[in-house]
Amino acid sequence: MNKLFSFARLAHSYFNGVSQNLLYYFFKIEPVRYSNAVFLINTQCNSRCAMCSSYTIKPLPGEMTTEQVIDTLNKLKKHNSNIKISFVGGEPTLRPDFDLILGHCNKLNIIFTIVTNGIILNENKAENILLHKPFAVHVSLDSLDKDTYKKIRGVDRVESVKTNINILIQIAKKLRSKTFIGIKTVITSENINEISNLSDFAQSVKAGGIHYQPVLVFSEDHGSARLMPKQSEEINKQVNILLERIKNNNKIILNSISNLKSWTKYFEGSIEKRRFCSTSMQNIFIMSDGKIKLCERYDETIGNILNYDSIDSIIKNNNAIIHRKMMTSCQRHCSFIFSRGIKDYISLVIRHIRN
Ligand code: SF4
Repeated sequence: MNKLFSFARLAHSYFNGVSQNLLYYFFKIEPVRYSNAVFLINTQCNSRCAMCSSYTIKPLPGEMTTEQVIDTLNKLKKHNSNIKISFVGGEPTLRPDFDLILGHCNKLNIIFTIVTNGIILNENKAENILLHKPFAVHVSLDSLDKDTYKKIRGVDRVESVKTNINILIQIAKKLRSKTFIGIKTVITSENINEISNLSDFAQSVKAGGIHYQPVLVFSEDHGSARLMPKQSEEINKQVNILLERIKNNNKIILNSISNLKSWTKYFEGSIEKRRFCSTSMQNIFIMSDGKIKLCERYDETIGNILNYDSIDSIIKNNNAIIHRKMMTSCQRHCSFIFSRGIKDYISLVIRHIRN
């Protein structure tokens, strides 16, 4: 029942987002409510990912304190009681106050998800996280092979991550937890040949599903650019395997068919002219120091939440208006990575209910 209730809240938020998009697109009416917040609560990380240049060994000076994070959560809840918050990092589980932060979300009845690299997810940590009733926990796993994993993630921890995924799933079972446990795989030139094997792994450990995300290139001179797969034959082969599996009723793959079909063009770099990118209308990205962006790929921020008394006031400021104008007409070809369409949501809901 709780699960269905969360879906109803997310659906309400989603349709509210769609109507805001339409009002903006046709009448330039500014949005009043965001449905997703991606909260980068730290930059400290125990991985060294080749596609990331923002990890730090220690917490950065200026990182939000516990009180500031709690205050930001209160502001998000006040802004939209059905908002979905995704905790990312860095590695969010490294924050010593992570338990307290999740406890506050639970107390406020916030729908939240966590993305973790799974390296330190031992039994205790897994249990503590699940007791706070996250809507979903996504563990990053890009390869089953020691060397490939190390090339992508920079550390030799693939076996620990595989074990910890199992631990998390077993504990969820023991607690009869409704939390969705998923695997997140970034597709790169290094792992393109084992994309379908990773869905076998997800199936074998009885994960809720696996979601693939094509590597996001921040700029041509960024480490991520070198990881763009160029092996077109292998890309087509893997896409076809996944499409075939979905056709045969495989429920483990969470990407929609249209999303899978977009990969080839995305990896080719062929720019599709679009009229509208809705990312900046639906998502706010809160950085570890409180700065807020409307798209992860842009450096521009619309202000710092620590200097505003509400999310409502920050999203109405001049910077926000200017950035939305620029980003909604952005001609890059990555919006499908950030924005799920209606088909993605419907297929996710059906798979969740069946689980
Ligand atoms: S297309 Fe959308 S998601 Fe991609 S960079 Fe532009 S604004 Fe951001």
